[in-house]
Amino acid sequence: MKPKVLVSYREDNFPEEVADKLRPLAEVIRVTGDYSEQLREAEVLLASGEKVNDDFLRKAPKLKLVSRFGVGYDAVDVDACTRKGIYVCHTPDVLSGAVADLTWAFILGWMRRIPEADDYTRTEWGKKQKGFPFGWDMQDKTLGLLGFGRIGAEVAKRGKGFGVKMIYYDVVRRQDLEAQYGITYVTFEELLKTSDIISVHVPLIPSTKGILSTPQFKAMKKTAIVVNTSRGPVIDQKALTEALKEKTIAGACLDVFEVEPAPLTEELFKLDNVIVAPHMASGTWETRRKMAERCAESIKAYLEGNRPPFIVPEQKNVNF
Ligand code: NAD
Repeated sequence: MKPKVLVSYREDNFPEEVADKLRPLAEVIRVTGDYSEQLREAEVLLASGEKVNDDFLRKAPKLKLVSRFGVGYDAVDVDACTRKGIYVCHTPDVLSGAVADLTWAFILGWMRRIPEADDYTRTEWGKKQKGFPFGWDMQDKTLGLLGFGRIGAEVAKRGKGFGVKMIYYDVVRRQDLEAQYGITYVTFEELLKTSDIISVHVPLIPSTKGILSTPQFKAMKKTAIVVNTSRGPVIDQKALTEALKEKTIAGACLDVFEVEPAPLTEELFKLDNVIVAPHMASGTWETRRKMAERCAESIKAYLEGNRPPFIVPEQKNVNF
């Protein structure tokens, strides 16, 4: 009997042709909703974002590999998996460009007031009641990156062309990349104080949860905006809502939220100094395809008896 691979994702994100590559080696089963029944027999899970913790693993006695469809694996308890001899893989690098593109779409959308311009063009243009929604130049603004890893670096690469001054704060200083990307290392306090735009690119881990909250918003320029394409809980959402209402900071562009899907009644959605998206930073056809292929590569290697590539850093030295 072939090993069972559960694909907990929508069909358009894990194309049939990619699933076909696994079929000579495994039975590939697409699942949605409550899939506890199928989980009992599964050896591999392609996880879309569900919480994989001790409770979950108790229902998966045969599981040997969790392949996370994405680079962030905060939903997977890696220690629990390691204790049970389960590899955890993810999809680094292939999505960095797409996330950086959406980050810049947000930044430019805010600076040139695209949502208002769109609305103005459809409803006001020619009526002479309201002026054009003028925006602001990118040149000479300061873009501060909170986190300068794979995605942060792609954002900086694009920033060079816009002539912004770029600074970053990261727990790991990347002196080797600073000249190449034209970016300067600063302290967290300096980043908050001097940035016109703060773009967040840290993973969600205990030390980054709520890293931006009321004291940090108070330390920022009143004209500054926050762009978050990382994970919702790295920003204290209640504190952000308050800061936006009180105009402690000027605005926010958010792809991610503390609860997802965010309820339609979400208070942030009522504010006009916010631009939002439904956690879709990696959501391009090309990138989702590459992510599916990266997942399939790890799964195929495992099924062929090899150590899977793209294992998360915490399992760098483990061999099951
Ligand atoms: P990465 O590991 O390459 O970079 C993260 C950087 O954050 C590292 O350089 C790390 O040193 C730094 N960091 C960690 N803790 C920090 C702290 N307390 N203060 C400052 N810096 C800190 O990861 P990546 O590939 O660039 O991805 C970053 C995150 O983006 C992912 O973990 C994921 O949560 C998120 N993401 C979101 C989407 C989306 O659809 N919105 C898509 C892809 C990734």
